[in-house]
Amino acid sequence: MLELKTYRTQVHNDWCPGCGDFGIINAIQMTLLEMQLEPHRVAVFSGIGCSGKTPHFINAYGFHTLHGRVLPIATGAKLANPSLTVVVVGGDGDGLGIGAGHFVNTGRRNVDFTYVLYNNGVYGLTKGQASPTLPKGVKTKSMPLPAIVEGVNPITLAVASGYTFVARSYALDVRHLKQTLRAGIEHRGSAFVDVLQTCPTYNDINTKEWYSGDDLPVKQARLYKMEETAYNGVVSDPSNGAEVNEKKGNALLKSFEWGDKIPVGVFFKMEVPTFEDQLAQRMPILKEKPFVEQDIYNRDVTPLFEELA
Ligand code: SF4
Repeated sequence: MLELKTYRTQVHNDWCPGCGDFGIINAIQMTLLEMQLEPHRVAVFSGIGCSGKTPHFINAYGFHTLHGRVLPIATGAKLANPSLTVVVVGGDGDGLGIGAGHFVNTGRRNVDFTYVLYNNGVYGLTKGQASPTLPKGVKTKSMPLPAIVEGVNPITLAVASGYTFVARSYALDVRHLKQTLRAGIEHRGSAFVDVLQTCPTYNDINTKEWYSGDDLPVKQARLYKMEETAYNGVVSDPSNGAEVNEKKGNALLKSFEWGDKIPVGVFFKMEVPTFEDQLAQRMPILKEKPFVEQDIYNRDVTPLFEELA
């Protein structure tokens, strides 16, 4: 019988006490349990950074890959074995710094997996330098001077790149994060979940107290759930270009809300054929069996050489 401990490992966890990463990994494990996904049907891929250790702590297939390269590696795995539930994790520095090109081009493909961004505004593993999501002018305790360049808005970039499920949640609201991750995993296509994550060791600006609005004249949580408002980012008819553009435009406008009020929930969602669907149209053999079940040793490549001669 599957239990929460089914998804846990005995690997020592050295994340700092109070790190938001604990909320994210708990939410991932609770989601896998809720969906009753057996560990051998799940693969977790990570980049480099504090978040990169996630696959070590989840009892499933796992691959701790290279800095910024996690998305192409996960893409290859999903194409080889589409029956796997693929969860990709990485930090904002990893995914939107060195990995930014892969982030954009993955959005264009619409491979069926879920990318979870641990977004804390700093490079935690290397002592808290400004990461791509830290806004210009902000100075955390680990920086000698404020950030001198503009920050990247992950939601804006994801919508513009073509991700077909774009959402945001919060590491310390495990229930909302679990719901969001489940919706992302159940979505057929590339799901992107921007998780606002506290880093108590290096980011003393976007703290638990800041998200709770302790500093506001009248204390009020900064985060509000879009599902409790009239906002609707779901495209009902993907063949209707006007509706798609309108929903994308609304999502972009919503993505700029930041400050005293910050939206969480689903910004944009659209069901269209995945990359795997389109590849199978082009390579009918994939409809019979995936790459992982095909014979890769006894293949006659003579016709290929003849074609090139
Ligand atoms: Fe978490 Fe920050 Fe510590 Fe990394 S440095 S484990 S992100 S608290």
